[in-house]
Amino acid sequence: MRKKIIAGNWKMNTSLAEALSLIGQVNLSVQQQTHPLLQTIIAPPFIWLTEATRIAVTTNGLQVAAQNCHHEKSGAYTGEVSAAMLASCGVKSVIIGHSERRQYQRENHAELVQKITRCFEEQLHVIYCVGETLEERDTNRHFETVKKQLQEVLGEINAEHASSVVVAYEPVWAIGTGKTAGPDQAQEMHAFIRKELQTIWNAEVAQNTSILYGGSCNSGNADALFSCADVDGGLIGGASLKADEFAVIRNIMISKLA
Ligand code: PEP
Repeated sequence: MRKKIIAGNWKMNTSLAEALSLIGQVNLSVQQQTHPLLQTIIAPPFIWLTEATRIAVTTNGLQVAAQNCHHEKSGAYTGEVSAAMLASCGVKSVIIGHSERRQYQRENHAELVQKITRCFEEQLHVIYCVGETLEERDTNRHFETVKKQLQEVLGEINAEHASSVVVAYEPVWAIGTGKTAGPDQAQEMHAFIRKELQTIWNAEVAQNTSILYGGSCNSGNADALFSCADVDGGLIGGASLKADEFAVIRNIMISKLA
């Protein structure tokens, strides 16, 4: 069975005090309610990662991810953070290709391939984000966009590394907007992504790759989304900043595993 994953992307939010409180609350709720097939991940800002791994180390069910890493190994890149640094402080995975970084940092596919390669060198897993803009969906180019994002990046990654990749489908028009893809739209795209993974790698890998939905996922819509056959969990932004809300979303996923 594919691994189910609930991951919280905190983005550029939280003070130190808020981060410590939130990490502590999520850690506690994972200790109280978990499932062997559910992986819970939090991705706080870089500066809180060491604290997060120190606290999260006490549970089996909680992992810490970073929201990005630099594409070079090390060197004169002021202000940047390498995959090796992340691995050395206990981080287990890295979000790569988030639409906010594609948009604001102009991250291109060649750079994303390099970042993923750096992650694998450090035995880090990757949560690779794809998704179309509203304009692309409205002009019926959403499949074309996602196919390109998969082929030009994951197409460069050898199948032997595929078990270290999770894909997150995050329609750009749904991120932070309160608009969510309906279950039919999510299932349609997730099935399409799985078919593309089969073309890029092979059928077995495609069946075993977890594909997460992201974009205004919350306790109100998680049940419908997580009921879809090809939705293996969620990448949660805003709703992951509230410990209670995040716990409810996790419990909805656990209820699907019962
Ligand atoms: C995200 O940016 O990864 C995300 C899913 O954000 P939100 O849930 O706030 O839409």
